[in-house]
Amino acid sequence: MASQIPTEQWAQVIEKTGGPVQYKKIPVQKPGPDEVLVNIKYSGVCHTDLHAVNGDWPLPTKLPLVGGHEGAGVVVAKGQLVDDIQIGDHAGVKWLNGSCLACDFCQQADEPLCSKALLSGYTVDGSFQQYAIAKAAHVARIPKDVPLDAIAPVLCAGITVYKGLKEAGARPGQSVAIVGAGGGLGSLAQQYAKAMGLRVIAIDTGDEKKKMCLEQLGAESFVDFATSKNVVKDVQAATADGLGPHAVLLVAVNEKPFQQAAEYVRPRGSVVCIGLPAGAYLKAPVFESVIKMISIKGSYVGNRKDSAEAIDFYRRGLIKAPFKVVGLSELQMVYDKMHRGEIAGRYVLDTSK
Ligand code: NAD
Ligand code: ZN
Ligand code: ZN
Repeated sequence: MASQIPTEQWAQVIEKTGGPVQYKKIPVQKPGPDEVLVNIKYSGVCHTDLHAVNGDWPLPTKLPLVGGHEGAGVVVAKGQLVDDIQIGDHAGVKWLNGSCLACDFCQQADEPLCSKALLSGYTVDGSFQQYAIAKAAHVARIPKDVPLDAIAPVLCAGITVYKGLKEAGARPGQSVAIVGAGGGLGSLAQQYAKAMGLRVIAIDTGDEKKKMCLEQLGAESFVDFATSKNVVKDVQAATADGLGPHAVLLVAVNEKPFQQAAEYVRPRGSVVCIGLPAGAYLKAPVFESVIKMISIKGSYVGNRKDSAEAIDFYRRGLIKAPFKVVGLSELQMVYDKMHRGEIAGRYVLDTSK
């Protein structure tokens, strides 16, 4: 088996913060004792990868860096301590590449909060290469009947919005506003919300995203944040009784909606912050927040169980979100479109091209 693994591979590498990414050949690494080497077939491109290129966040990346954390592929090598995943199994390299499994948070299955967490495509090399390494305990187990291109976006976007919807606490029949609905997280959020029995109000901009949300993803209404004269009123008006959505999932990449959501959420409702716009602050009026008894919280990816559940929703045929496949070599084009807000759904890279 090992003889089939090349010594060199194609990868997209960030040499310096600010980019651009460089498509070039780099060595294939060998997995450590508790790691697996995954031959990545497809990798989704998350907006987080663009934040990493731009150095947007108060957390430095490794440099040089191979980005990517929605990598779906086949296990081709494993360390000697690994016995619960086999060569030939399908696996996903997700944002959480590894964690200590021993700290207070890891013990409670809150491993995204582990202070020693390794982050794919950020603090360790990720999935924008043909062969990526991850801790065996953390790679997502992907059933063989699930297509690797379609499952790639689930490995970050899907897991994250599924977890966020659980954190929102909304019950079947209640309404959720998805802010940033036309993007990668937002498109999957609509499908998970629908599968969980929630009624969706989609918020984003442009006719292409509007059509996708209403005709493909199951949103009941769409509010265009760029053309609406009053987003707060329009979102509230989109709920059956005009009192506003029970939950708001903020997956947008701009600060403004993080300062509006508390105004239109329903009394007793929850605002779940997921998007991570650079340098942004949350704002909510104290008076209304108190007398409406609203909750505002953050939600960060998901644990191993959330990951398995999110993949199972997909396997059961409940999740269908549009994605476009292009070659790994075309990553810079994807970033340019993402920067301009032009992507409806997700781009997935085919690492063979
Ligand atoms: P994306 O670029 O695919 O989508 C973002 C969408 O937000 C776009 O459709 C854009 O039109 C929309 N938008 C911009 N301004 C808006 C506004 N004012 N109101 C409503 N919509 C607006 O990005 P993505 O890959 O879906 O990622 C979204 C964000 O989530 C990024 O900041 C990313 O880093 C973050 N993220 C967080 C987690 C987490 O665990 N918390 C996980 C993954 C991604
Ligand atoms: Zn991501
Ligand atoms: Zn830990």
